[in-house]
Amino acid sequence: MSDRTPKRIAAGNWKMNGLSAELAEAEALAAAFPAPAASVLLCPPATLLAPMAQALAGSAIGLGGQDCHAAEKGAHTGDIAALMLADAGAGHVILGHSERRAHHGETDAQVAAKLRAAWAAGLTGIVCLGETAAERAAGRTLEVVGAQLAGSLPPGATAANTVIAYEPVWAIGSGQTPTPEEIVEVHAFLRQNAPDPAISLLYGGSVNPGNAAQIFAIAGVDGALVGGASLKAVDFGAIVTALLAA
Ligand code: PEP
Repeated sequence: MSDRTPKRIAAGNWKMNGLSAELAEAEALAAAFPAPAASVLLCPPATLLAPMAQALAGSAIGLGGQDCHAAEKGAHTGDIAALMLADAGAGHVILGHSERRAHHGETDAQVAAKLRAAWAAGLTGIVCLGETAAERAAGRTLEVVGAQLAGSLPPGATAANTVIAYEPVWAIGSGQTPTPEEIVEVHAFLRQNAPDPAISLLYGGSVNPGNAAQIFAIAGVDGALVGGASLKAVDFGAIVTALLAA
């Protein structure tokens, strides 16, 4: 591990959004940021990975998948292997997003197995953690996030192969964000407990062009995982600009 300062990262999660026509957004972003001083990546649906790799060719914007299977290959209809993501041009993969944990019953152990598969394929895993509204109301935020961190990161997680995204479930797609103090508390806890002090800690949940600068000014925030506001180059570009200025 060379650089001991966490990398600043803006990652866009397109979720199940985007047809070929939307590749124009990736092209516009690539044109706006030929050489950003932070890591910027887009994570489109699997169908757009290969064409988006072409659209981003020559730019400094990277590509990521949204999930991968723990197995290298085989009889897993509808799933995607980490090597397939890498083969399509991805360098990262989002793992353990709360939508996958909630809608597909993904456990911490499964996320850890997927992260191992990602590493084996040469990908960096962006591991998502976060409490529900009920867990926060019950004062269990650090307990929940701590258990997810311990269970989702196998031994060997370093800044070279892993990024952590703190994404309160109640903040995703809701327009609500935690207070700066709440984000500071969780990020300080993650920093204390992360296996490598240089692992980047992203905040995710309703980041938009209007609040990005304020969020990037919060101690311990190394960047953002952005959902809805990453779909349009003009919005995600404004978030990247805020990160570069932070
Ligand atoms: C996400 O789904 O990872 C996310 C942060 O979504 P949004 O930015 O839309 O809240």
